[in-house]
Amino acid sequence: VADFPVIRSSQERRRMLLATAGIGVAFVLWATSVPFDTHALDYRTIASVRVLDRHGTPLRTTLGNQGTAAVWTPLSNMSPYLIQATIAAEDKRFYRHPGLDPLATLRAAWTDLAQHKLVAGGSTITQQLAGMLWPEPRTIPGKLREAVRAVRLEMLYSKNAILEQYLNRAPYGPMIQGVGAASEAYFQVSPDRMGPAQAATLAALPQAPTWLTSEAGKGALRRRRDHVLALLERSGVLGAEAAHEAGERPIELLPHAQTRGAPHFADWVLASLPALLRTATSLRTTLDARLQKDVEAIVREAETRQGDAATQVAVVVETLPSAEILAMVGSLDWTDPREGQVNATLARRQPGSALKPFFYALAFDRGLSPADPLADVPMHFVDPEGADLSPRNFDGRYHGPVRARVALASSFNVPAVRVQERVGIGRAIEGLRNAGLGDFANDADQYGLGLTLGVGEVTLLDLTTAYAGLARGGVWQPPTYLQEADDSRGCALPLSSPVEKRWCRASSAFLVEDILADDAARTPGFGNASVIDLPFPVVVKTGTSTGYRDAWCVGFDGDHVIGVWTGNFDGSPAHGRGGVRTAGPIFREIAIYLHGRGSRPWVAQPPPGWTERVVCALSGGRPRDACAGTVLEWFNDRDWSARRPCSFHHWRDGRREIAWPAGYREWAAAADLAPAGIDASGSPQITSPTGGSVYFLDPRLGEAAGIRVAALNAGVDARWSMDGSAIAMPGGDFYWRPVPGDHVVEVATPAGRDVVRFSVR
Ligand SMILES: [Zn+2]
Repeated sequence: VADFPVIRSSQERRRMLLATAGIGVAFVLWATSVPFDTHALDYRTIASVRVLDRHGTPLRTTLGNQGTAAVWTPLSNMSPYLIQATIAAEDKRFYRHPGLDPLATLRAAWTDLAQHKLVAGGSTITQQLAGMLWPEPRTIPGKLREAVRAVRLEMLYSKNAILEQYLNRAPYGPMIQGVGAASEAYFQVSPDRMGPAQAATLAALPQAPTWLTSEAGKGALRRRRDHVLALLERSGVLGAEAAHEAGERPIELLPHAQTRGAPHFADWVLASLPALLRTATSLRTTLDARLQKDVEAIVREAETRQGDAATQVAVVVETLPSAEILAMVGSLDWTDPREGQVNATLARRQPGSALKPFFYALAFDRGLSPADPLADVPMHFVDPEGADLSPRNFDGRYHGPVRARVALASSFNVPAVRVQERVGIGRAIEGLRNAGLGDFANDADQYGLGLTLGVGEVTLLDLTTAYAGLARGGVWQPPTYLQEADDSRGCALPLSSPVEKRWCRASSAFLVEDILADDAARTPGFGNASVIDLPFPVVVKTGTSTGYRDAWCVGFDGDHVIGVWTGNFDGSPAHGRGGVRTAGPIFREIAIYLHGRGSRPWVAQPPPGWTERVVCALSGGRPRDACAGTVLEWFNDRDWSARRPCSFHHWRDGRREIAWPAGYREWAAAADLAPAGIDASGSPQITSPTGGSVYFLDPRLGEAAGIRVAALNAGVDARWSMDGSAIAMPGGDFYWRPVPGDHVVEVATPAGRDVVRFSVR
C-alpha cells in the first residue's frame, strides 16, 4: 500500500507521540510569541489628507506618514470588477482558505523551481496583507511568522475586512498605496466608477508596481492586464464580448501628480486647519475648481496684455452673503520655482484708497451725509513722526467743495483725511478691527491721519472679506473655506460656525455701496472712459499704494465679491500705473465672466425710510431757484427735515452768483473761479459716453449689454434725447441698450446743454 515506516513497538510509538506533541507545543508556543499588534491596521497611520473642491473634485492628496498617497476607500465604494479582478489575479480561493493556501504555495514553489527563479508569489491575500502590516525579511522564519499572522488575521477579521485592508494598502506604483489613491492618480475616477479594463490594470500592478508603471514595463503591464481579463472571462465575471472590448483598450496611466488645482488655496487650507480638524483625511472645501481654472486663465491672459507692468497678480473670489472662497490665485504661476508658491492673497501690502469706504461708512454712522460738501483744498498736517504731510489727489488738482459722494467715488485724498478727522482715530481703529481688518488696525496708531490714505498694510484676503461685510450691510464674518471634514473612518468632524460682527449701520453700508456703484460720481477723479465701468451695476473701489507699488481693485455684484491685487513681490513700483489700469481690467473680466454664469448685478436696496431727494449739485443743500444744477441723494425723513437750503448760490442783478464760504475763497481765487464763479458748476456736462467713443458689442453680454448715459449737473429737471428723440431718464443715469451705428446724445437744463457723438460697432 504505502511505504510509510511501520511503527512496531508500543514504547517506540509512545516516544514518537511525545516527540510530535513536543514539537506541536513548541510550535504553538513559538507561534503565540510572534508579535501581533492590531494597531498596525489603523489606517490613520498611513492616510493622506485629501483636499476636494465644493463638488468633490480632488485638488490635492498629501503624502501620508509612509511617504505615499493613501486614501481610505470602503469595499462598498469599489467597483465589483476591481474586487473580482484582484481575487482572480492574486488569490482565487480567497473566500475558501483559512488564510493559507497550501495548493497555491506548492504550485508556486513548483513554478519557481521549474524556472529557476522566484516569480510566482503563491502567498494568499491574507499573507500579503500580513506582510504589508508587519514587514519581514524574505527568509523561511520570516515566511513562517507571516503565515502565523495570516491565520491570526483570519481568526479575528471577516474575509471582507481583510480584503478591504488589502485593497487599501497594496502598492500600485511609486508613492501610491491603495486603490483610492491609485484610481485618482491614474484615471482621475473614483474607485466605484472603474470599468473592467481599468480594474484589470490596477489588479495587475501590486506584484511589481514600480516596474509595471514605468515606461519599460508598459508591454509587460499590457500582457498582465490581458491575462487578468482572461481570468475574469474564465470565471464568468465578464462575458466574452465585454472581455474582448476591454482588451482592445490601450493602457493610459496619467502621470502621478499630488496637485490637481488651486495649489495656493490647498496649501493655505492645510496650513490653517484648526486643531480639532487635525485628524481629518478628507476636506470638502468651498472652492469651485472650474471657476478657479477660468479665473487663472483670465489672469494669464491679462498678464500677457500688460507686458512690462506689474509682474504678479493675486485674486480672491467669494460668494455673497456667506463669504465662501470660490477661487484663490496667489501668483501668476505656482510652478515658477522662484516666487510662484508665494501666496500674495496672504501678503501684507499697502491698500491705498481701497480702505477709504470703511472710513466713509463710519462717518455716515456719525451723521455725515453723502450730500455734505467736503473741502478739497490744500491742507497740511503733521504725522506722528513730526513730518509735514500735504495730501494730494491722484489727478494732482484740488476740487474745492466736493460732495462726500463724489469725494469717495473719485477717491480724493484731502476729503478722505477730513472724514477720518471727523470719525476720530480711536473710533476708526475700532471700526476697522470690527470690519475684519484687525491685523492692520493693531499697528494703526503710528499712521495718524495717513491711515485713511492706506499707508498701513492689509492682505487681499482680509480686504476682500471686509468688502463682503460691506455687502452684508455692515456685518463682517470670516471667510468660509470648509463645507465638510471627515476622518479616515468617514465620520464627519464638527465645524465651527462663523462669528458675525456688525461694524457699521446698514444704512451707512448702503450709502457706501450706492456711491461705489455710481460711475457718474467717479468721473471727476478718473475721467469718463474708466475701464471699471461695467455694462451692469457693480460696487467697486480701486487703490494704489505710494509709489505705485501695489494696485488693487475690490468690489461686488449681487452674488460675488472679487478682490484683485497686482504688483511685484520685491515691492518695486509698476511705473505710473494706478489700480484702475492694472487691477481694474482683471476685475472687469472676472465680473463679466461671473455675470455670464448667472451672477446677478448689484441692486440698490435702500433701508426702510430712506428716499432720494433733490439737492443742489454744488452745496448739497435743499435747492433754491438760484441753484444751477441739482442731483439726487438718499435721506431719511429726520435728516431731510433738518436739511438747510443751499447757501452757495444767489441771484445778484438778475445773474446767478456763487458766494464762496470762507474756507473756499483762497482755493477759488487760485482756481480763477472767483470772478467768473457764475455758473461755474451750472451747465450740464455729459460724462458718459465720451465724445468720439467707439463701442464694440461684446457677444458674451447679449441682452445684458448697455452703455451708461450720465452727466454732471443734470438732475431730475434735465431733458435728454438720443438721436433726436426724447428719452426718459429715471433720475441720475441709466443704461442704454446699444444699437450699431452713429449716435448723438443730448442733455439740456435751464443752465445749458451738452451734446456728445459716439458710435457702436
Ligand atoms: Zn445751490
